Amino acid sequence: MAAHEMHDVVVVGGGPAGLALALGLAARGISTALVTGPERNVDHRTTALLEGSVRILDDFGVWSRLAASTAPLRDMRIADATRRLVRAPEVTFRSAEIGLEAFGYNIENDALRLGLLAAALEQPRLHVARTSVTRVEVDDTAATVELAEGAPLRARLVVGADGRGSLVRAAAGIGMRTHAYPQVAFTATVRHTRPHEEISTEFHTESGPFTLVPLPGDRSSIVCVVSEREAIRLMGLSEADLSRELEARAGSILGRFTVEPGRGAFPLAAETAETLVAPRIALVAEAAHIMPPIGAQGLNLGLRDVAELVALVDRAAALGEDVGGAELLARYDRARRSDIEGRMRAVDVLNRSLLSDFLPIQSMRGFGLYLLDRVGPLRRAVMRLGIGERAA
Ligand SMILES: Cc1cc2nc3c(=O)[nH]c(=O)nc-3n(C[C@H](O)[C@H](O)[C@H](O)COP(=O)(O)OP(=O)(O)OC[C@H]3O[C@@H](n4cnc5c(N)ncnc54)[C@H](O)[C@@H]3O)c2cc1C
Repeated sequence: MAAHEMHDVVVVGGGPAGLALALGLAARGISTALVTGPERNVDHRTTALLEGSVRILDDFGVWSRLAASTAPLRDMRIADATRRLVRAPEVTFRSAEIGLEAFGYNIENDALRLGLLAAALEQPRLHVARTSVTRVEVDDTAATVELAEGAPLRARLVVGADGRGSLVRAAAGIGMRTHAYPQVAFTATVRHTRPHEEISTEFHTESGPFTLVPLPGDRSSIVCVVSEREAIRLMGLSEADLSRELEARAGSILGRFTVEPGRGAFPLAAETAETLVAPRIALVAEAAHIMPPIGAQGLNLGLRDVAELVALVDRAAALGEDVGGAELLARYDRARRSDIEGRMRAVDVLNRSLLSDFLPIQSMRGFGLYLLDRVGPLRRAVMRLGIGERAA
């Protein structure tokens, strides 16, 4: 490619959000370049893609490629495993109640990323540069993206999909509002002797949620929110001891556990970018917001950023407007703010209500779950919100 060849959009970051964005833009005929960043290590985590995300990926023409590696999440069960005075009833949400086959589908992160990367490499309208961005500069008409290897790229719009430590965000001078939690998400994958029956289970404990999410076969991924000290202890256990410990935490509902190699510990934090845009720059997904892994919201929220941006760029291109213009960027920021801030608040409230020793707060959580168990319209509204639909 010639130096400074002009694209409509350069997407920075080859994680799931950047790959999905580049594929979505290319599918609509927008001239797009994707800079993937360095090769990544194996990621043993999984991602629950909720129904809204499945629709987005399907619309971009890539869901059919991923579907075979996923396990459906047909029902979701919440069980109170606290030993507190006020305990909530067990609540099970069934996707059939809102006319769906599943709330979403769980997929191993590597299968998700590699599936999307294969689709990106096959997409003739997408220029893929497997290198890193070293610098972003903006002038009146376009932005220039310098690469560690190869000629610089120029585009009307540069999108930072480059994750938590986003270089694009730093180049735009956008700060983050940060809130740290006193907890760590411990992750592992287990094989079990009883079938999960496509039910994901979230146990509410005094240290945070402990979640079992189905994978294909008799396997499940585990996200266990614990104190930092507890996470260090769990990281140090032998596979046999860890299997026993996790099985006990799950009350043996899936029979005997055997952990697979590859566990992880991720400090909980909530971070939101002060703004999602700067001249000729937009941020999506973790470059813009980092959520605690509670309620499977993180990437699902990121894919809604992606869908919004694809729709806005597509419309601007169809009208012959500047796809990196100030008006489009302001509209994107406005469109995404309330969803991002609302999800952050919801996860924060749930997490605090679990950590709180304050009886009225425990009672409110218990009463909330009681209402969710009993009141049909409320159940259905919450289920729709949970899968990524907007509040009416
Ligand atoms: C324990 C845990 C469980 C989770 N479970 C769920 C779940 O069930 N459902 C859900 O929706 N979300 C979940 N999440 C959140 C989800 O993992 C993240 O939202 C998602 O990975 C973010 O994707 P991303 O593409 O924004 O960022 P990343 O995956 O971090 O990708 C960023 C990419 O940018 C690249 N990059 C960085 N710098 C540069 C550069 N200078 N030039 C070019 N490229 C660059 C990197 O190499 C990387 O490939 C979970 C998170 C955790 C911690």
